[in-house]
Amino acid sequence: MSVRDPQPVERQLPTEEARDLLALVREIAQREIAPRAAEEEDAGRFPREIFTLLSESGLLGLPYAAEYGGGDQPYEVYLQVLEELAAARLTVGLGVSVHTLASYALATHGAKQQQVEHLPAMLGGGLLGAYCLSEPSSGSDAASLRTKAVRDGDEWVIDGTKAWITHGGIADFYTVMARTGEDGPRGITAFLVPGDAPGLSGAAPEKKMGMKGSPTAQVHFDGVRVPDDRRIGEEGQGFSIALSALDSGRLGIAACAVGVAQAALDEAVRYATERRQFGRPVADFQGLRFMLADMATQIEAGRALYLAAARLRDAGRPFAKQAAMAKLHCTDTAMKVTTDAVQILGGYGYTADFPAERYMREAKVLQIVEGTNQIQRMVIARHVAGPEGR
Ligand SMILES: Cc1cc2nc3c(=O)[nH]c(=O)nc-3n(C[C@H](O)[C@H](O)[C@H](O)COP(=O)(O)OP(=O)(O)OC[C@H]3O[C@@H](n4cnc5c(N)ncnc54)[C@H](O)[C@@H]3O)c2cc1C
Repeated sequence: MSVRDPQPVERQLPTEEARDLLALVREIAQREIAPRAAEEEDAGRFPREIFTLLSESGLLGLPYAAEYGGGDQPYEVYLQVLEELAAARLTVGLGVSVHTLASYALATHGAKQQQVEHLPAMLGGGLLGAYCLSEPSSGSDAASLRTKAVRDGDEWVIDGTKAWITHGGIADFYTVMARTGEDGPRGITAFLVPGDAPGLSGAAPEKKMGMKGSPTAQVHFDGVRVPDDRRIGEEGQGFSIALSALDSGRLGIAACAVGVAQAALDEAVRYATERRQFGRPVADFQGLRFMLADMATQIEAGRALYLAAARLRDAGRPFAKQAAMAKLHCTDTAMKVTTDAVQILGGYGYTADFPAERYMREAKVLQIVEGTNQIQRMVIARHVAGPEGR
């Protein structure tokens, strides 16, 4: 079977250092991550050792300050790293994105002393993080969360249940949004909770449609005590920290979506140029050629959109609208492109012998996490048309 190598992605990278970084990531992705992806996803195995390798290679804290063990990379570089990792295996790309999200509160709103004490282990010391906002009865309406933290002297006592937590039950640290005051967004505070805190436990992982290697689980907090110096930011500031973390996190999801879509396109091209019907490769038929052209165009548009948002962020300018647009466009594109890839592979596309069906199952979750695509449209509409009910 003559297999055609996919066209390399034309990347715009700002420095020689960034080009070297992407080359290193591609090598790790192709040598260590991609070859085991299908089998381990099928078996529901989380590749913890890959995260250890990424940490040792300086790839778990890329957008954060080198002073605390980060990589000092701009978002436009970090996101392209995520794209490569997700193309090899979404469980890894999304896992790195969630770890970055979980580190955000401390890295951007922590006191200097807290950052010195905890960040180096989080960003380059092999630890794995989880971000705990959602609850069984509060998803899109996250500000109605009920997990409580009650002050007791110099400590806080946390009780409640978080839901859908990526790395739930296996993480080394949890960034937890809990209610410390009034109802609504102003009564929420952020805490950094160690994974081995007494009273913290992970439930059995959810049985998901895809990304089965990535554990998603409820996390129970049963009288979990943390000292006040593990409170991040001011009391009542937790929800605004959580939302600003999500502005950046959504860019990570967008980049992961482009990675999955690119992998599906590469697979579709590979297959279509080899599979022959009516005496010709099926890639010769205009019906498929136009599908491939549309897939490639939407992927390039998605990459350009997330990079434009990242460059605004890197320049210190507002980027929330563009991040929501990038998340919306890139994840809808991933769903469409992966579905079309299955179609291009015909009956084989519907089997687990080829990765197209896995990409399609994986793409679906990206339209749901870190704000569903309905919520992204609400965010964008507020920027475009102003708040509702004026
Ligand atoms: C695999 C996976 C991993 C996840 N990882 C994490 C994690 O690490 N940390 C974390 O905190 N959460 C995580 N989540 C949770 C995720 O962020 C939520 O699932 C998501 O925010 C949606 O919440 P929900 O599932 O409760 O849906 P709901 O909010 O109940 O929404 C149900 C439907 O109603 C729609 N809807 C809701 N409100 C509106 C509205 N105002 N207008 C229009 N439509 C609306 C939604 O778009 C959706 O279609 C994860 C979820 C999954 C599936």
